[in-house]
Amino acid sequence: MIYDAIVIGGGFYGATIAHYLKTQRKFKKVALIERGQGLLLRASYNNQARVHNGYHYPRNFTTAYRSRVNLPRFLKDYPEAIKRDLTCLYAISRNNSNVSVKQFERFCHEIDARLESAPEKMSKLFETRLIEKVFLVEEYVFSATKLAELVKEKLDECGVEVRLNKHASVIGVEPAGLTVDVGDGRDRMNGATSERLNAHYMFNCTYSAINQFTRQSLKPPTPLKHEIAEMALIQVPPVLSNLGITVMDGPFFSMMPFPAKGLHTLSHVRYTPHCHWDDASGTGPYEKLDEYDRKTRVVRMVRDAARYIPAMNDVQYVESLFEVKTVLLKNESNDGRPILFEKHSDLPGCFSILGGKIDNIYDVLERLNAEPLDLQGK
Ligand SMILES: Cc1cc2nc3c(=O)[nH]c(=O)nc-3n(C[C@H](O)[C@H](O)[C@H](O)COP(=O)(O)OP(=O)(O)OC[C@H]3O[C@@H](n4cnc5c(N)ncnc54)[C@H](O)[C@@H]3O)c2cc1C
Repeated sequence: MIYDAIVIGGGFYGATIAHYLKTQRKFKKVALIERGQGLLLRASYNNQARVHNGYHYPRNFTTAYRSRVNLPRFLKDYPEAIKRDLTCLYAISRNNSNVSVKQFERFCHEIDARLESAPEKMSKLFETRLIEKVFLVEEYVFSATKLAELVKEKLDECGVEVRLNKHASVIGVEPAGLTVDVGDGRDRMNGATSERLNAHYMFNCTYSAINQFTRQSLKPPTPLKHEIAEMALIQVPPVLSNLGITVMDGPFFSMMPFPAKGLHTLSHVRYTPHCHWDDASGTGPYEKLDEYDRKTRVVRMVRDAARYIPAMNDVQYVESLFEVKTVLLKNESNDGRPILFEKHSDLPGCFSILGGKIDNIYDVLERLNAEPLDLQGK
């Protein structure tokens, strides 16, 4: 049996692409292979849940602009997963910020993003010695659990074959088409069974694991940077409830509601990344995270955040989410979050896709629209 397409990786990207192939491209047999016990449990869950609207990227116009284009589509496609009843504030630090108040205002004007001075009740929360100005902006968060529920419903409806607890390893090519070796369980070395699946098209959507395949490919993989990131989950005092706060633009922090848990995430540019490495080291990202001791840095995050917002002294720490965050090495310094959309010329029909943010899935779908993805004569 040969699949029309096999999608490897059941995060938001893989699941959305599998749904697209089935519904928009009318592929008959599509399988989605996921190594974990469920869908959208890795980076698609362990993130800050911010639906970006451009404000976060004053140093990268293209990423900011794409966020502006993609946000309305995401809100329309997943309305039940979006939390709209929150107030989002962007505060510009007086010191060490890569953007001044004037530059931020000009940038928001250029990307046509709504920007207002925050009402006094809110700007009063900030230490004026450290914060020059506070703006009210239009930004949202999503519930990762609700998003997963909606995605699963869509996959069920259209009949994508979802195969959980399946670990894909070797991608190859045979005269009849592409192949992928798939083992049961997470540990292939412990006698887990393996089968070889065939497909006309193959989509590698494994995010941080995207370069971990043994491929019959001569081309070197695209350089990636990984980091182990900690998002602290906190209970905030009533005065901060339902607020999303981002201090710009440098070694500062942000705090957003996290609807999946009824808590807030707290991340800090200095303390959230615990360590980083590039793919060249050959270390498997999930293995690296499994071995990591996960000692929280929440005390340092809160201590620094409380300098800017004294009410942060009253937050209660609950737990932390740890995940591997992966970006293209070339965007390390310019803050860009473009997609990687790679066609493997020596594995015809095989694509590797990496998304920098949840909503730029739409950039991927646009790229796929431009692909013939022809099944005639296959
Ligand atoms: C700490 C952090 C904060 C972030 N904050 C935001 C934010 O606020 N807003 C935003 O828009 N984006 C944010 N992002 C980025 C966003 O989370 C990712 O762009 C997005 O989730 C990527 O989705 P994905 O489906 O590619 O990855 P994933 O959800 O990680 O899916 C990849 C899947 O592939 C599976 N897999 C891996 N290897 C194999 C294999 N060999 N065989 C089978 N299955 C395999 C994994 O188990 C996983 O389920 C953040 C990311 C991180 C890590």
